[in-house]
Amino acid sequence: MAAYDYETHEYDCIVIGAGGAGLRATLGMAEQGLRTACITKVFPTRSHTVAAQGGIAASLSNMGPDHWQWHMYDTVKGSDWLGDTDAMEYLAREAPKAVYELEHYGVPFSRTEDGKIYQRPFGGHTTEFGEGPPVQRTCAAADRTGHAILHTLYGQSLKNNAEFYIEYFATDLIMAEDGTCQGVVAWNLEDGSMHVFSAKMTVLATGGYGRAYFSATSAHTCTGDGGGMAARAGLPLQDMEFVQFHPTGIYGSGTLITEGARGEGGYLTNSEGERFMERYAPTYKDLASRDVVSRCMTLEIREGRGVGADSDHIHLHLNHLPPETLALRLPGITESARIFAGVDLTREPIPVLPTVHYNMGGIPTNYWGEVLNPTADNPDRISPGLMAVGEAGCASVHGANRLGSNSLIDLVVFGRAAAIKAGEVVDRTGGNPALNQASVDAAFDRFDRFRHADGAVPTADLRLEMQKTMQEDAAVFRTDKTLAEGVKKMNGVAAKMSDLKVSDRSMVWNSDLMETLELDNLMPNALATIVSAEARKESRGAQAHEDYPDRDDVNWRKHTLATVDDKVTLTYRPVHLDPLSSEAEGGIEIKKIAPKARVY
Ligand SMILES: Cc1cc2nc3c(=O)[nH]c(=O)nc-3n(C[C@H](O)[C@H](O)[C@H](O)COP(=O)(O)OP(=O)(O)OC[C@H]3O[C@@H](n4cnc5c(N)ncnc54)[C@H](O)[C@@H]3O)c2cc1C
Repeated sequence: MAAYDYETHEYDCIVIGAGGAGLRATLGMAEQGLRTACITKVFPTRSHTVAAQGGIAASLSNMGPDHWQWHMYDTVKGSDWLGDTDAMEYLAREAPKAVYELEHYGVPFSRTEDGKIYQRPFGGHTTEFGEGPPVQRTCAAADRTGHAILHTLYGQSLKNNAEFYIEYFATDLIMAEDGTCQGVVAWNLEDGSMHVFSAKMTVLATGGYGRAYFSATSAHTCTGDGGGMAARAGLPLQDMEFVQFHPTGIYGSGTLITEGARGEGGYLTNSEGERFMERYAPTYKDLASRDVVSRCMTLEIREGRGVGADSDHIHLHLNHLPPETLALRLPGITESARIFAGVDLTREPIPVLPTVHYNMGGIPTNYWGEVLNPTADNPDRISPGLMAVGEAGCASVHGANRLGSNSLIDLVVFGRAAAIKAGEVVDRTGGNPALNQASVDAAFDRFDRFRHADGAVPTADLRLEMQKTMQEDAAVFRTDKTLAEGVKKMNGVAAKMSDLKVSDRSMVWNSDLMETLELDNLMPNALATIVSAEARKESRGAQAHEDYPDRDDVNWRKHTLATVDDKVTLTYRPVHLDPLSSEAEGGIEIKKIAPKARVY
């Protein structure tokens, strides 16, 4: 057994992650007087949420008529009928409240002439249950909305006496024998000390796993650590095949150009200068949902109408917009275009390409953020002591495809819901139960094994092999052949984890070891993604399967659950079809959200 000294800490609640979801949960828990700590591997305001540009969706009706039911309908349709209906209702109904809370906490939203929160159009957001014109629903602080939210929530959390453990890397969950989560083991990157956190409620808010792919808009820290920890604890990952490609990553660097650019009037062209989206999505054109636009761009390139020397990308035009609008509404991307594409966007188009952007799948939860460990008899069985929120979780409101600006609202609505639930279920009076020492020891053993790993393959090499495999074989378009090959290749890649070579054995800021632990988290996420994709014989949302081009609601309107140990085992759980409230209670008319073809 590996011998490490460690310090033990006791809290009511610990939150792993200080992005929008983690901070909103931390703040809500601390506000209720729960003893709460937030553990984060990067400084809170450096979490990937800081990069969110476009905005946060809520039916405030500041720019014209809107209704939470229209937002719910758009989310159901956006999800390609795979989202859980109760969770989608909760999201759309609670969204305005959650945004006003942010406003009162101090988020500096952009304003309309009469002082209301400014809202812009975003893909897939419409009026009249998809029958009316696009709606302006996405609340924005210029094109730095995530930045504004993160700074505000961090300040508020400190004000409410939440404690922060910054640059601490959580390695593993501590699980009692009965399956209750009891906390985490963490490594202080700065001074090399080890820590055991005991908690009555542990919240995973660790963000997505975009870095399983070669080209992604997400930060290098988005390594699916929560999913990795959950998988090692024997918990399943849900709907992992659904990976969102954002239509407009800058060609080459992958840096994001927000959909807000098209919301403000930007449009795409091919090598013939044609605004090709008018052909594919006559009604919503460049503002069709992301999976649709990404596929159309890929088709244009495949059919030889890509731009550039290799005809391998597409142009995004903003040069027709008044420079004042660009300066006021899109200052950040004006800068990104200059730095990453060398383009002055007031004069030239930006070269763009669909780029991995968001993970619809994650740790399954109900709409209170409680993690589910389904059985055949009870698909909604709760895994006690554990929650997951934000991109790490899967509530599931995004189903097979997320609408732009629906993630930031998911972070705050479900971060808040998790805090409300924790206030109800955490017993503040009793002490923390004794920790399962075997689980603590196992975490230290694993840590020590990687620290002394002395194989043949450097971590960076294996990571690159994984990223290239995923990029090639779990791409925008998928076939039986590419997926089967991809599964085989990924199994080979994963097998090399036992032959890793870590060169640095020190404990203080050992980035070699940290990246190895991150790779060990990315791997189960990547495996679950490609195996789940291979099994799903239909096209739905982000899964575009060329051998099965149609959606198959009879056989496949169900959530995939992937359990990853030596191999990936798949089971399925039903989609929640019932909304929270009936029509009589003011809820949505059921026939409005019945499955139909998804056209934009
Ligand atoms: C470039 C970009 C732009 C986007 N724009 C928008 C937008 O305009 N609107 C929208 O709705 N969505 C947008 N999205 C999506 C949205 O921003 C993300 O889904 C969301 O911010 C994720 O937030 P999160 O709180 O779940 O995680 P993150 O913000 O990714 O934070 C994860 C946190 O977990 C911590 N962590 C992770 N692993 C560990 C560990 N092992 N130990 C300790 N701490 C750990 C990190 O330190 C970090 O604090 C965008 C995404 C990107 C990449």
